[in-house]
This record gives sequence, structure tokens and C-alpha cells, in this order.
Amino acid sequence: MPLATQKPLANGGRAGDAVDRGATPHGGASVGGGSSAGGFDAIVVGAGPAGTSAALGLAQKGAKVLLLERGEYPGAKNMFGGMMAYCPAPEQLVPGFWERAPWERAVTKRVLSIAGRESSTSLVFQARSGSERSSVGAGSSSDRSLTGFTLFRPIFDRWYAEQAVAAGVTLLTSCRAEGLLMRDGAVRGVRIAGGGGTAGGDDVVEAPLVIACDGALSLLAQEAGLHGGFKPDQVALGVRALYLLTEEDINERFGLAGREGATNEFLGCTEGIRGGGFVYTQTETLSIGLVMHLDSLKQKAIPPYELMERFVASTPVAPLLRGARLVEYSAHLLPEAGVRMTPRLSAAGLLVAGDAAGFCYTNGLTQEGMNMAMTSGLLAAKVGAEALAQGDFTAPRLAGYAKEMKRSFVLRDLRTFRRAIDFLHHDRLFEDYPRVVSALMEDVYRSDGRPRTKIARMGLRAVRGVVPIRQLIADAIRVGRAYLW
Ligand SMILES: Cc1cc2nc3c(=O)[nH]c(=O)nc-3n(C[C@H](O)[C@H](O)[C@H](O)COP(=O)(O)OP(=O)(O)OC[C@H]3O[C@@H](n4cnc5c(N)ncnc54)[C@H](O)[C@@H]3O)c2cc1C
Repeated sequence: MPLATQKPLANGGRAGDAVDRGATPHGGASVGGGSSAGGFDAIVVGAGPAGTSAALGLAQKGAKVLLLERGEYPGAKNMFGGMMAYCPAPEQLVPGFWERAPWERAVTKRVLSIAGRESSTSLVFQARSGSERSSVGAGSSSDRSLTGFTLFRPIFDRWYAEQAVAAGVTLLTSCRAEGLLMRDGAVRGVRIAGGGGTAGGDDVVEAPLVIACDGALSLLAQEAGLHGGFKPDQVALGVRALYLLTEEDINERFGLAGREGATNEFLGCTEGIRGGGFVYTQTETLSIGLVMHLDSLKQKAIPPYELMERFVASTPVAPLLRGARLVEYSAHLLPEAGVRMTPRLSAAGLLVAGDAAGFCYTNGLTQEGMNMAMTSGLLAAKVGAEALAQGDFTAPRLAGYAKEMKRSFVLRDLRTFRRAIDFLHHDRLFEDYPRVVSALMEDVYRSDGRPRTKIARMGLRAVRGVVPIRQLIADAIRVGRAYLW
């Protein structure tokens, strides 16, 4: 397949600097029945964790891959909370990944807090200390499944893309895919902006396979008709503030040693808006933020920065930030409706991975997206390489990707927790129940000279006037079905 217009490549990187400046697509044997000399076998759009995994996976199978990234460098436009949960995919792509990747802290402490007006109640999970393993980083493999890693996306995404470039991927930055190139009902490449296109038109780059990893809104998947655009109740707005603090202060305040890290998730801190708050530890910074369903945020009409100010000043958060300096503020959308928003995952000539496919969720206990992005990118590469080897990019051939995804933990977890994800769409979980929990725990610990009652009676007192008993029973059954059986 010819490279229809090589302007962005040929004009000395005007469309963007190729990070591998001077590096050419590797000359290894092409697996592509559909490629032709000088052309690319595949174009991957978006150098986030999904796109880089897909590009890397394809390049390792001998494909010539063009990776397009609209940011000045991979990660330049990306942020997350964030803790990346362990998953095997990146290790399969980069040997020694967990030892080599530029992560900040290995998370061994997870805290879930329910914030009331006057008090907050927390559940703390502490894995066996990782401090003695700080030099080897992620510890032994048996520990890794209990460990997450905090990291900075501008550093991590860039490093990860460099691994892809080292494997032969051609990376073009500051280059936005504007849309798909369609021919005979199949995707045959992408239209790109910023390449100095002629007469105001976009340039095109052709390849028999395109993998859309262009993030939560995925205009490419929409254009291919795989979904009709995500609705406001299916996506959330994440806002994050980054605070500078010394390593010693962080270790002392969170009870950590060495490169151990902690995450703290909060429920009840969003003024009734469906969502939650988080505090994550990096080496010398704290990420503080809120994730809020877009429809709920719009309905309550409270500006996100106001909510952030209140969260930062709240009882459980303020002491963690004493003396810390705000250095950055950013916002990003993320998919939150789980399997209910998963689009069709392929069309003729096209695969979709990562957030673009809605592979991101929270069940209230964990927030996952990075691991799902990498796993789906790896599986897209696997199916893409098979299609290239056979020169078959038809819809039935590429539908094998959906089958791979269904077998993976990604779609299985989204299915397992679909009721939990639905449950998180009930407003009372974010206002009424945090009040109930706080009132109950305040009663449990109150010592005012009067005799105490048993806990069931305290519970009834806490619930009265806040949640009708019938509703409480219905919600208890919902919780059971969502999390327990
Ligand atoms: C506030 C917040 C907190 C989060 N916390 C966590 C967490 O703790 N743990 C976790 O695992 N996940 C978390 N996530 C989710 C996680 O960030 C995503 O699931 C993950 O980044 C998805 O990776 P991706 O590669 O699919 O998409 P992205 O990371 O969004 O990457 C998409 C890439 O495509 C590029 N791009 C987009 N459009 C184009 C185009 N047209 N042309 C060229 N390039 C394009 C973008 O610049 C970007 O580099 C969080 C997200 C947010 C917003």
C-alpha cells in the first residue's frame, strides 16, 4: 500500500518532530501482505499507553508502523490521577519493564475514606512493606499483583514511546489525525492536519490497518460509525492539582518508607455530585483531584475549581498539604460507564483500543484505565499482525480482536462490575450515605457521659430522616449484587 502523501515526513518534520529523528522504519521482513515498499503496514493514532503498546507490539512482529501523536511529545497532553495497576502486558512488550519504567512510588498502602461534614471514616489496606525492595523497584513478581505504581504521564508516556521507537516504530509528534481515509467501505488510512496540506486540505497517509487509540472521545471510532458519541453520563471530568512537598514530609505524613507509595480515595467530597476525590503520592509531589460525572456536574452547576478548593481545604486533606506548593492544575475526560459504553471494537481496516473503546472504569474501590489501555493495545497488535500476515483486513477478520478482548481481564472485569458501575450512578451514594456513615461513626466514638446504645440503634438514628428504610434495604441488595455475588 503506497504512502499517499509523505509531506509530514518529507518536509523535515513540519507536521511535528519525529522523536526518532533520523530513524527510519526498520527494514525487517514485513509481515504485511498489504504493504508495499516505503509504505506503512499500520498507522496507530495516539501515543498514550494504548497506542504505544499497539505500535510496539506490531513493530515487534516485523510490521512497519507509523505512530501519530498530536502532542508536542508523547504525554505532553496527558495526565491521570494516578496509579497504574500491575498487569503483564507491558512486560511482554518491554523486557524488564517494571524495573526500567520511570515510575515514582510502588503503592503498598490503599486508603478508602468516606468523608462527612465533620468527620471522615477510612478503610486502610496495607500490603507487606516494599521499602526494603526499593532498589529493585517493583519487588518480586508475586508481590507485583498487589502493587500499583504512581507515575507522571509526560515522563512515562515519553519513555514508553521511546521503547517503541527503539523497536522500529516511526513516531510523528505535533501531528493530529483529523479523520479517516475511507475507500470501498473500508478504512485505508488517516487524514492529518498540520502537515502544510495543500489548498487548505488535509494530507493523507495510507495503510491497510489503522488502530485508533485517540483517547476518551475517539473521533475516529465515531467517524467509522462504531459508536454515536459518548453521552455526558458515560464520561467524567477529572481535575488534578499537583503539589510540591519534600520526600521526607510525604513519607512522614502518609506513614511510608523508601519508595513506598499510598493512594487515598474519597467518597462524599463532591457536594453531592456523583464522583470522588483522590490523593496520590509521587516521590516529591502529591496529586490531589476529583473525578465527577459530567451530567451530574452540569446539573449541580458548581464550578470544578470551587469544588477543588473545598476538597483541598477539607478535614482529611488539608493536613496532608501543610506547607505544600501548588505547581500545576489540569483537567481531562475519562470514560466511566464500563461495558455499557463499549463500542463495536473493529471495522474493515480499523481497530479501537484503550479509552477510545471505553476501557476504563471505577467500581468505587479501584480506578483502572492504564492497564486496560496497554492490554487492549497489545491484543490489537496481535490481531493486527495476524491480519497483516494474511493480507486480510476485512471486518470479519478484524472481529477476532473483540473475541480476544472478551477473553482478557479487561472486558471480563467490566462485565463483573457492570452493576457496581451502574450503582455509582445513584446520587444518594455521594451525599446521603456519607452523612449516614459519619453520623454512625461519630455516635460510635462519642463519649459525652450518657450511656451508649448498641450499634443497630445508632444505625437507625443515623439513617432516620436521611434514607428511607425501604430504600436502604433495596440499596443493600444492590450492593450485594454489585460486589458480593
Ligand atoms: C483524572 C484522571 C485520573 C485517572 N486515574 C487513573 C488511575 O489512577 N489509574 C489508571 O489506571 N487510570 C487512571 N485514569 C485513566 C487513564 O488515564 C486512561 O485510562 C489511560 O490514559 C488511557 O490510555 P489511552 O492510551 O487509551 O488514552 P490517552 O492516555 O488519553 O492517550 C491518547 C493519546 O492520543 C493522542 N490523541 C488524541 N487524539 C489524537 C488525534 N486526533 N491525533 C493524534 N493524536 C491524538 C492524545 O494526545 C494522547 O496522547 C485517570 C484518568 C484521569 C483523567
